[in-house]
Amino acid sequence: MSPPASTKVDLFIVGAGPAGLALANWFRGANIKVLIVDKKPGPTPRGQAEGLKSTTNEIFDSYGIGPQVTAESWRLEEIACWGTRKDGGEGIVREQVIPDKVAELGKPRETMLQQSRVEHHMLHNILSHDNIEIRYSTAPISVDVDTSCVHEADTFPVSVSLEKVTTNINTTNGDTTNGTNCHATNGHHINGQNGHQPNEHDAPSDKISAKYIVGCDGARSWLRKQLDVSLEGDLTDSVFGVVDIIPKSNFPDIRRVCYLRAASGTILLVPRSNKEVRMYIPVESGTALPDPKDLTFDRVMDAARKIIAPYTMEVGSVSWWSAYRVRQRVGNHFSRLNERAFLVGDAVHTHSPKAGQGMNTSIQDAYNLGWKLRLTLEGKVRSSGARQDLLRTYESERRPVALDLIAFDKGFLKLFAAPSAQFDTEILQALKFTTGLSIRYPPSCAVQLPKGIEQLGPSLLKADLVPGKRLPDFRVVYQADGVPTWMHQRLSATGQFRVIIFAGDISDSTASKRLHDVGKYLGESKSLKHVVMPQSEQEPLVEVVVVHCAERDLVDLSALPEVYRPWSDESGYDFWRVFADVESVHDGHGRAYERLEIDRQVGCTVVVRPDGYIGAVLEVDDVEGVERYFEGMNV
Ligand code: FAD
Repeated sequence: MSPPASTKVDLFIVGAGPAGLALANWFRGANIKVLIVDKKPGPTPRGQAEGLKSTTNEIFDSYGIGPQVTAESWRLEEIACWGTRKDGGEGIVREQVIPDKVAELGKPRETMLQQSRVEHHMLHNILSHDNIEIRYSTAPISVDVDTSCVHEADTFPVSVSLEKVTTNINTTNGDTTNGTNCHATNGHHINGQNGHQPNEHDAPSDKISAKYIVGCDGARSWLRKQLDVSLEGDLTDSVFGVVDIIPKSNFPDIRRVCYLRAASGTILLVPRSNKEVRMYIPVESGTALPDPKDLTFDRVMDAARKIIAPYTMEVGSVSWWSAYRVRQRVGNHFSRLNERAFLVGDAVHTHSPKAGQGMNTSIQDAYNLGWKLRLTLEGKVRSSGARQDLLRTYESERRPVALDLIAFDKGFLKLFAAPSAQFDTEILQALKFTTGLSIRYPPSCAVQLPKGIEQLGPSLLKADLVPGKRLPDFRVVYQADGVPTWMHQRLSATGQFRVIIFAGDISDSTASKRLHDVGKYLGESKSLKHVVMPQSEQEPLVEVVVVHCAERDLVDLSALPEVYRPWSDESGYDFWRVFADVESVHDGHGRAYERLEIDRQVGCTVVVRPDGYIGAVLEVDDVEGVERYFEGMNV
């Protein structure tokens, strides 16, 4: 047998599910070598998840696959609530149909696309980039992190041994606990077996050296065990059957999202692609909690039929079903070993699938971590302390999101177990929560509060301009050609920050002069020039963008300072940085200033991080505030 090959990569990812693929997408076209391995033999054939929240769709927009995903997706527009009859009669009646709409978003809250298709688009988006390699039927068998050199930028402290998985392994067997921990003289040595016994046909193992390792390897994460990360939380008292069937039913709302509340339980019914519906059905067994292992498909369907009566529900075909007891658990750490090892997605949090949050949260975790790793690996963050501060924000930002999700999930399950009189209002609140509108990352190097302010008051469930919240999406038109765009579609995931200057009505001479002064300062500032102006054909780290609300024909793009339309010898002027909040030819008026509650006379400046979250909100001409932000980031 030949000796194991040794390969050096910058980033090693375990798991090519939604989280792993979303993470890899950050590195398209970057000068960063990425290797992803997955033990399954090829792309996911189907997958259980299907709902995509608007934030996740914005992430796809920024990866350039938004149009393909949207074209294939099905929108959810209405929710029907059914309950027991008020006249004491048997059976259920439709109580109301409510629009599946969160007005603050200004766009659909949720669309449906099967997990395998979601993964397909993310996978195909990376395949043409030869800096990213994906190996299926491959699993790590040991990992070793040399902590003596983790503080130096260009070291490869992570060593991984890989094994070809050629035997027919059970993909759910990651629960094995035969990993062992020991401390080698050169640092932290972690070593484990993945439960797969090699057979004589297995290829010799590969050795990988990496700068960083990320576990996107799902609920039974192998890396989590190697890193000694434990999950906190527990099993709940809820046992559910979940079925994906093509129904033969006379139930009139079978193609709407439905909450069906009967004396015997509550079904959540969600229409899916291919004429299928998904039903989550609580299963009870007298006073004792049934063991999911004892449940059969027929028993789950019998429980469903009882709830949906007097309507009938026969099974045309069943593509998948399962029974489970909900686990609500969050990892005690999301990163380890001086931020050289990370866990993402189901690998660090699990909860009930009913609110359709798992795939979305996993993709959003990966999106949060990806730009931080990219900036670090590209050497854009100058000191090792600043790099670590930035990478630490992955845990400080995403762990509270997972904890909030568990708290929400508990309430959501309770709502199902014992629906209150305010069921419909509570459902609407829940819909708002699932959009991520309540997420606000805490202050850090990447989220800076206005000078002199330590804390901000609550601004939950609102789409507003607050440091730490997501930039609410809005529609504007390009100054140069009048073509409309949503802002997140324009803010592609290149690793760049954006300084968005909401300059107000610049047909007014005061506002126009202010914009000129700001532009001149930013383009010439000693501390910013190297990051805002293109350097030797490279995209600048910070893109300065203008959104004004003047009539377009009163604005002369070519007269604006160069930082708003920089020149490159290769491609001339960049005409795609100035936008107007005006009526478009075909798509109406986006009313961005109104939506974001920005005064048209006063304006403001917003620093947007590469992941679309707000880093700082400043007065429109607070150029020192912009300098302070990037000094704080040490870029
Ligand atoms: P996974 O999808 O589990 O991917 C992990 C990957 O790692 C897999 O490809 C696996 O093969 C690989 N892997 C594992 N171990 C190893 C190893 N040792 N070596 C190499 N590779 C390894 N979420 C939603 O957002 N919306 C929904 O509507 C929704 N519905 C759901 C319905 C059900 C019934 C269930 C069970 C889940 C649902 N979810 C939903 C949750 C969603 O499926 C998960 O949260 C999501 O798939 C997690 O993504 P991930 O990439 O973190 O992990």
